[in-house]
Amino acid sequence: RIPGKETQGLVDNSLTFDIDAVRENFPILGRRVYDQPLVYLDNAATSQKPREVVDCIQTYYLQTNANVHRGVYHLSEEATSAYEASRDKVQRFLNAKSRKEIIFVRGTTEAINLVAHCYAKPLLSPGDEILISTMEHHSNIVPWQIICNQTGATLKVIPINDAGEIEQDAFTTMLNPRCRLLAITQVSNALGTINPVRQMIKQAHQQSIPVLIDGAQAVPHLQVDLQALDADFYAFSGHKVYGPTGIGILYGKQELLEKMKPYQGGGDMISRVTFAHTDYNELPYRFEAGTPNIAGSIGLGSALDYINAIGLDQIARHEQALLVYATEQLSSIDGLRLIGTAKHKAGILSFVMAEAHAHDVSTILDQSGIAIRAGHHCTMPLMAHLGIAATARASLALYNNRADIDALLAGLHEVKRIFK
Ligand code: PLP
Repeated sequence: RIPGKETQGLVDNSLTFDIDAVRENFPILGRRVYDQPLVYLDNAATSQKPREVVDCIQTYYLQTNANVHRGVYHLSEEATSAYEASRDKVQRFLNAKSRKEIIFVRGTTEAINLVAHCYAKPLLSPGDEILISTMEHHSNIVPWQIICNQTGATLKVIPINDAGEIEQDAFTTMLNPRCRLLAITQVSNALGTINPVRQMIKQAHQQSIPVLIDGAQAVPHLQVDLQALDADFYAFSGHKVYGPTGIGILYGKQELLEKMKPYQGGGDMISRVTFAHTDYNELPYRFEAGTPNIAGSIGLGSALDYINAIGLDQIARHEQALLVYATEQLSSIDGLRLIGTAKHKAGILSFVMAEAHAHDVSTILDQSGIAIRAGHHCTMPLMAHLGIAATARASLALYNNRADIDALLAGLHEVKRIFK
């Protein structure tokens, strides 16, 4: 057992944040499910929201609500300032060079589809290649399949090893002049693997291949510095970083976005319209057609403030210590096999049990108020590669503690007892 601040559930004594206080800030963690305290371990699917974020959205609707960029009256100006201030927060959070590079979208999926349609599709012809990896989420597979089918380009898939890490030698040989884009996840949602994207981007750039990073599972856990990373496109979702659903970010380098034509037309993305012709608006508005998710973007800004107040370095250290503890505990269970044993991992524990199917595991845990995910995790090709239909997956967030892992362990012993 790792000695720690037992009462606070911290497994790293050097941490400064008070996890009990943090948990109080997430009212949902205080509720009961089937008369048991909720143990929420499905954070890779979506995270819970702190009171600050919910309050901020409520205040917006109760006090400010108006459309943005249109009215010249006070409320509309206030809403516009709050909306644009959130863009600035995202820019600072990711260390992007310019606010023009930050586009509000619905989430990671929409961000990747936007790049597929507005950047890649016009470039592609038969014989060209889009490079992805075996561990991609469907959101970073299907958009590329769609445009490959439309253009005659080919989707190429980088293999992974048994630990769930990218085969770097194969990757190097797959970078070639026919490759028009590398689209890869920074952290795998199904395995937890942290990919060495900085190095991979560097290698791709040596051959003038642009890179899109799916940051959906990275942004909640790792400090992302886009200028240091040098990614050409970067996508993430608000709801996985303690923000609301329906809001996300596409980052794109300004010089690339400037050259792209929008794929959705309507309000806000225009500067002048006649029946014969439309002049598009400047960045970033060119890619934000229609009334945006104003409350969502403001809520996302508030979530990033919340993360900054604790510090991503503190969050990462807490989650890493908890991951080590959880890995030790789960490994002690006979017949449980961890899927994804990469050297560099974020707080995701995927596993299968000899006795029970992942869905049975999840259903039994649910009876004890423990929420984990079971299934293919939107990575069906990865599951096929691994030769399994599904895994059970527990995924960590900043508010999880040792008690959550201990409850999970007790629940898994109950699964073994039932399926004995
Ligand atoms: N990419 C990864 C790695 C994910 O984990 C997810 C969501 O689970 C997505 C993309 C899609 O995110 P969203 O559904 O928020 O668009």
